[in-house]
Amino acid sequence: MLLSIQNLNVNIQETSILKKFNLEINFGEIHIIMGPNGSGKSTLSSVISGQQNYIVTNGKILFKGKDLLSLKPEERAGEGIFVALQYPVEIPGISNQLFLYSAVNALRKYRKQPPIDRFTFLNSVQEKMKLLKMPEDLLSRSVNVGFSGGEKKRNDILQMMMLEPILCILDETDSGLDIDAIKIVYNGLNFLRNKTRAFIIITHYERILEYIKPDYVHILYKGHIRKSGDLTLVTKLEEKGYGWIC
Ligand code: ADP
Ligand code: MG
Ligand code: MG
Repeated sequence: MLLSIQNLNVNIQETSILKKFNLEINFGEIHIIMGPNGSGKSTLSSVISGQQNYIVTNGKILFKGKDLLSLKPEERAGEGIFVALQYPVEIPGISNQLFLYSAVNALRKYRKQPPIDRFTFLNSVQEKMKLLKMPEDLLSRSVNVGFSGGEKKRNDILQMMMLEPILCILDETDSGLDIDAIKIVYNGLNFLRNKTRAFIIITHYERILEYIKPDYVHILYKGHIRKSGDLTLVTKLEEKGYGWIC
C-alpha cells in the first residue's frame, strides 16, 4: 500500500470539509477524483501536501506506512509526494531555474544522495521543456510570475518530471487549458507513469479518458467519496450528471 487515508476529518476554521474520508492507493495506480465545485477536492490535495489552515480533527494518512500528518511539507516532498495545486504559486524574485535546481537538490539531500551539478541539471531540464513545448525563457523568469495559465500548468508538470515523485497529485491541472496544452500535460504524465509511482488526478474534464486510462474513478460529494468505480463511471457522469449520485 502506497497511500492509505483512514476516516479523515478535515476542518477549515470551524467548518468540517472532509468527513470520514477513506482512500487507498497502491503503487502503479491512477485514481481520478471528480466531484462538484466545493466538494472538498482541493482540501484533499492541500491536506496531503501539508498546507496550513487545514485542521485534521480525526483519522490518519499513512504514506509508505509512515504517519504523513506528523511530517513537515518539505519532509513529505522528500518522501516522494508532489502536489500540483489548483492555483500554482508565484514566487517573485526567484528564477524558475534556481527554484527547480534548489528543489531537486533539497530532495536529493533528504534522500542522502549527492547534489546534481548544474550542467547535468540544465541538460535534463531542457530536454523535459522540449517535451512540454515550453519556451526556454521560462527558465530565467521568476517562478510563475506573468506566466499564462497554460505555462503555469506546464511548469507544474516540469517540476513533477524533475522531482520524479512517487505519488503525484494533480489538482485540476487540465482546467482552462486548450486541447494542445491538455495533450502536452497528459503526455508528460504518461511519460512518468510506471509501476513504482501512483497518481491522483482531480479533474472536471470527462475527455481525460482519451489520454489517461485510470484504474479507479471516485466521486467526491460534500467531503465524502460517494461512489467509486472504474473508468465507465466517467461516461455515466457525463450522461447523467452528479444528480444521479448525490
Ligand atoms: P473543491 O476543490 O472540490 O472545489 P474545496 O476543497 O476548494 O472544494 O472547498 C471545499 C469547501 O471548503 C468549500 O465549501 C469552500 O468554500 C470551503 N473552503 C475552502 N477554503 C476555505 C477557506 N480558506 N475558508 C473557509 N472555507 C473554505
Ligand atoms: Mg473547485
Ligand atoms: Mg478545487
